[in-house]
Amino acid sequence: MRVSKLFGKTQREVPAEADTISHQLLLRAGMIHQVAAGVYSYLPLAWRALKKIENIIRDEMDKAGGQELMMPALQPLELWQKTGRDLAFGKSLFTFPDRRERKLALGPTHEEVMAKMASSNVQSYRDLPLLAYHIQTKFRDEPRPRGGLLRVREFTMKDLYSLDVDEEGLDQSYNKMLQAYQNIYVRCGLPALLVEADSGAIGGKDSHEFMVITESGEDEIIYCPDCKYAANADKAQSIKSKIESGELFPIEEVKTPGMASIEQVSGFLKVPQSHTLKAVFYIADGKLIFVVIRGDIEVNEVKLKNVLRCLELRLATEAEIVAAGIVAGSASPVGITGIKIIADDSITSGANFVAGANKPDTHLRNVNYPRDFKLDLVADIALARAGEGCPNCRGKLSSAHGIEVGHIFKLGTFISERLGASFIDPNGASHPIVMGSYGIGLGRLLAAVIEYSHDDKGIIWPLPIAPYHIYLCPLYLENPQVTAKAEKLYADLEAQGLEVLYDDRKESPGVKFNDADLRGIPIRVTISPRTLETNSAEIKKRSEKESELVPLEGIAVRLKELTSAA
Ligand SMILES: [Zn+2]
Repeated sequence: MRVSKLFGKTQREVPAEADTISHQLLLRAGMIHQVAAGVYSYLPLAWRALKKIENIIRDEMDKAGGQELMMPALQPLELWQKTGRDLAFGKSLFTFPDRRERKLALGPTHEEVMAKMASSNVQSYRDLPLLAYHIQTKFRDEPRPRGGLLRVREFTMKDLYSLDVDEEGLDQSYNKMLQAYQNIYVRCGLPALLVEADSGAIGGKDSHEFMVITESGEDEIIYCPDCKYAANADKAQSIKSKIESGELFPIEEVKTPGMASIEQVSGFLKVPQSHTLKAVFYIADGKLIFVVIRGDIEVNEVKLKNVLRCLELRLATEAEIVAAGIVAGSASPVGITGIKIIADDSITSGANFVAGANKPDTHLRNVNYPRDFKLDLVADIALARAGEGCPNCRGKLSSAHGIEVGHIFKLGTFISERLGASFIDPNGASHPIVMGSYGIGLGRLLAAVIEYSHDDKGIIWPLPIAPYHIYLCPLYLENPQVTAKAEKLYADLEAQGLEVLYDDRKESPGVKFNDADLRGIPIRVTISPRTLETNSAEIKKRSEKESELVPLEGIAVRLKELTSAA
């Protein structure tokens, strides 16, 4: 490909709207173009990289026994209503009526369509296990599209579904996919960490994410450097610091004028925050919920949502709290009725906490559970934090930011039961098919590679997914000898099947080198009047500083060697 003809211009300036490195570099390298919020076109270089990622994924799915097929993006909303996941996805699901006023959805995922298809194509246990996948466009109306290709509303995803007769079969399918995913990341040059994850709106029990650790990652990962424990912060558990128990003292009221927050109350009464009880109010599916948690610990809203089994959860406003007759700033579980109270298990150890008094400017000392108040539910609803104990080995937890580049789920029978996807066992009895679901967003993976592999000059593509392998960079094209040798080399390398981006523009060496580095092509081949003095060209890898001078005769062989790893 000649750079003079290439669709997609490089730009020097960092675009103001780009907040992550991958977004900046993709725009500056002329690889993507924003059409609407979270909706992008891929220009030829990015599209070539994406196709390579797609081929690696397809290859690994096929090797694992997957069968490729194609399901439609357009789905009847009725399928989603049958599983109730239209509500779980909420506004993220694009829905609209067709001309006959039938409701349709643009698929954010395909468990329903797959189960429906299985209901008429799987009859017997002999038809199982089955691994079926497609690589197709998905739609999710993200509330906050961001980071270029990292969080978008339309994207290409590979989603595979495993269908098995029982849990044991599901475990085997799951492990096959786990291995296939690991192979994919290795081939894309991406170190991906396997972490425990929340199942979210997809549903199901076991679930893992593959994470790439980068500063720009919007997910927080809690991990243990001493053992292999790693989990998304949404899901992570920890051993919370224990508060000493002791003799329970009688409750006493104290005046706390103007003190409402935990920081204020703990400072004013000179007790550590860990010896206070914090009241947090949520609206869960329209109902006010009272959450009690130790003052030094934060609520994990994902855990709380799972415990409540609700679809929508948000913090209550002060007006909503006051309307329920509660004294904001001094709310207390002691003596309150008519509201559901949920506590984190952190409050069940320790003694003599400071809590609100349900009276303005007043708090209570020596509040103890269960002596002084009742709870509707006690569960782990705390946000695990670095520094706390590892639930596995009791070591000290650390935290890091990461980008999710894959998510796999053990779904079970939830969806197959609702869509009539069943099979007959050897004894003639019918059972629901046990399903698993395995997704990778291709554009997200591409962006994650750039987040992980770049320098201050631009992208550094790993060879297997680089748009082109070789950047042929002749300098001083006004010199006819340079032009002649470069044109000949370009024709030779193309004829040998090498992937060459040929910078045939009459630009300065600085401009050409900058563009080559920005676009991140793994191998740069420079021809100049100086290299031609020894009838040679300079070969330089994008990832290395040193270059080598190689005679033009035989250079194709050398380049074939260098690119054969792809
Ligand atoms: Zn550990």
